[in-house]
Amino acid sequence: MSAASCLLTEEQLLCSICLDVFFNPVTLPCEHNFCKNCIMQHWDTNIQCQCPSCKEPFYRRLDLRVNTFISEMAQVAKPGEVPCDICTENKMKALRSCLVCLASCCETHLKPHLTASRLKRHRLTDPVENLEGRMCTIHDKPLELFCKTDQTCVCMLCLVLDHKSHKVILLKEQLEERKKSDLGRRETKIHPMIQERRLKIEEKWFFTVMPKTNQFSSTKNL
Ligand SMILES: [Zn+2]
Ligand SMILES: [Zn+2]
Ligand SMILES: [Zn+2]
Ligand SMILES: [Zn+2]
Ligand SMILES: [Zn+2]
Ligand SMILES: [Zn+2]
Repeated sequence: MSAASCLLTEEQLLCSICLDVFFNPVTLPCEHNFCKNCIMQHWDTNIQCQCPSCKEPFYRRLDLRVNTFISEMAQVAKPGEVPCDICTENKMKALRSCLVCLASCCETHLKPHLTASRLKRHRLTDPVENLEGRMCTIHDKPLELFCKTDQTCVCMLCLVLDHKSHKVILLKEQLEERKKSDLGRRETKIHPMIQERRLKIEEKWFFTVMPKTNQFSSTKNL
């Protein structure tokens, strides 16, 4: 956990009106925080404008500005929530996971997937913590392979049944590739010789695994 996220405990990120994590939090002059909507509604139903916590009165409706720091802290992934794979410092709560990029994205980092035509085609799912440990919903086998042709994770049975003529690599390899290309933001130059070797390894694995799938276990740890 980073230093900044330790500054506020989870309790301090809860609105005392709705008892939920802040949504668009605002700070009153008495330094108490509430969701903007909660405090507005509270003041709508009460004649006096006062702080619900300390009862400090305000004589007019304040110009409420969302406290961006607290707002961000409220979005940081808590234990049990899936963190964004792209956030570097305070990892925000992921909204969706991309099965192609094999990454979970927060609201900010999900945007390219909703706007860029290249990424719009990617299949998104509810956020999953461990994209490597997922099981195939059809065959109940670990999704440890990645079909490059379909840009999707497949299990061993999927491979044999539906992706026989496709370019399939180990999911681990695909994840490494993704990490290196950093979701396409920075194109890492791989030395041509290493690149060639990687391709050879991939090809070797691909062709040895294709005719007899029982070789899979002996070749998977290349
Ligand atoms: Zn609230
Ligand atoms: Zn107060
Ligand atoms: Zn993020
Ligand atoms: Zn994607
Ligand atoms: Zn399957
Ligand atoms: Zn395929």
